[in-house]
Amino acid sequence: MVYDCLIVGAGWAGCVLAERLANELNQKVLLVERRAHIAGNAYDGLDEHGIIVQRYGPHIFHTSARHIWDYVGRFTSWNGYVHRVLAQLTDKAVSLPINLDTMERLYDRPFTTEQFRHFLEQRRMPVEMIANARDVVISQVGSELYELFYRNYTKKQWGLSPEELAPEVTRRLPVRFDRDTRYFDDPYQGVPEDGFTCLFERMIDSPNITLRLRTDYRSVAGSERFGRLIYTGPIDEYFDCAYGRLPYRSVTFRFKTLNMERFQEAGVINYPGEQDYTRITEFKHLTLQKHPKTTICYEYGAAEGPPCYPVPTEANRRLYERYRARAEALEGVHFVGRLAQYEYLNMDQVVDRALAVFEEIRTRG
Ligand code: FAD
Ligand code: UDP
Repeated sequence: MVYDCLIVGAGWAGCVLAERLANELNQKVLLVERRAHIAGNAYDGLDEHGIIVQRYGPHIFHTSARHIWDYVGRFTSWNGYVHRVLAQLTDKAVSLPINLDTMERLYDRPFTTEQFRHFLEQRRMPVEMIANARDVVISQVGSELYELFYRNYTKKQWGLSPEELAPEVTRRLPVRFDRDTRYFDDPYQGVPEDGFTCLFERMIDSPNITLRLRTDYRSVAGSERFGRLIYTGPIDEYFDCAYGRLPYRSVTFRFKTLNMERFQEAGVINYPGEQDYTRITEFKHLTLQKHPKTTICYEYGAAEGPPCYPVPTEANRRLYERYRARAEALEGVHFVGRLAQYEYLNMDQVVDRALAVFEEIRTRG
């Protein structure tokens, strides 16, 4: 068999491209995935108690782009979940990102938009050139709120202090001057009604796609015949780490099932304090499942384990650029996705990249 395309990795990047090439261009695709399942880090399914869990932590699809929402919506309906997060402080839980409700609960007094602006004006620490993830926060809200919500959490999540991380890390969280308590601003958000794995199954359900699980790229690269290669794994591995390893942060997940219907007030509660975990997810909030028991998941930032996050530091960016230059010199090979592009991308951004690569292939051949 000669395949038109070999795709490495059955996460968002790999499956969107497999679907497009198979269904739009009628190409024969071999999709290889080294894990025992599809859906990459969005993988979900029933645990031993019959509760739907997301194996790699809480995943909520959110986007501001209608075309992305419509594209993904071909393979699923949405459950209408709107993501809200609380931060558990020593004596109370407050809404995140910081908004007027957060301030009122924190300081036990009313806040109007003007009062909050004034409060921050007196506390923010102007930074001439924002150079890191700490600068972003202290220049907006000052050191007290930084210490309370950001410093420990970031250290636990990344194993680095905010001064060592790029501004984009903490820029992900807005500061709000209204009472919008949603975690994401995006108008389109939710969890697939039948779960992410089911969405992926529908997406790659084509006679043109051959899926091989538990199969590493290395085991097929020399033996299979294919035209184009789409690679969605870690870019440094592709080049045998020739310039040294690119660090990817991992996460350890500890699941626990409890004999109660509800454990916590929100789907995700962050722990910005001294605890060794960063957050606890209770999946039934996200999936809207009814069940007499509940499964929760503790998350711990980890140096070892499956690659989850590219680590945005200046040194890593420079190292990535060396790999990227080599990748660009290759003919007929595309590097797509969070691990291959070494970028802190959300699911919708990965879909967007994959659709853009497809357009490039379609128009340029
Ligand atoms: P992946 O999902 O990592 O898929 C790559 C696949 O390639 C993997 O399955 C891997 O096993 C496979 N692979 C790698 N190398 C090889 C090889 N050599 N041979 C064969 N297979 C290989 N995004 C959101 O939009 N909303 C959220 O709420 C959200 N929450 C998140 C929570 C956590 C804890 C994490 C870690 C991420 C979260 N994300 C979220 C980000 C989201 O997971 C990613 O954007 C998305 O999964 C990236 O898709 P991808 O295809 O690029 O990579
Ligand atoms: N962050 C924090 N405290 C929080 C939530 C987030 O300090 O309670 C910081 C932290 O550095 C984190 C970044 O903001 O890595 C981005 O948070 P987000 O929730 O977007 O990260 P995700 O888990 O989605 O990657």
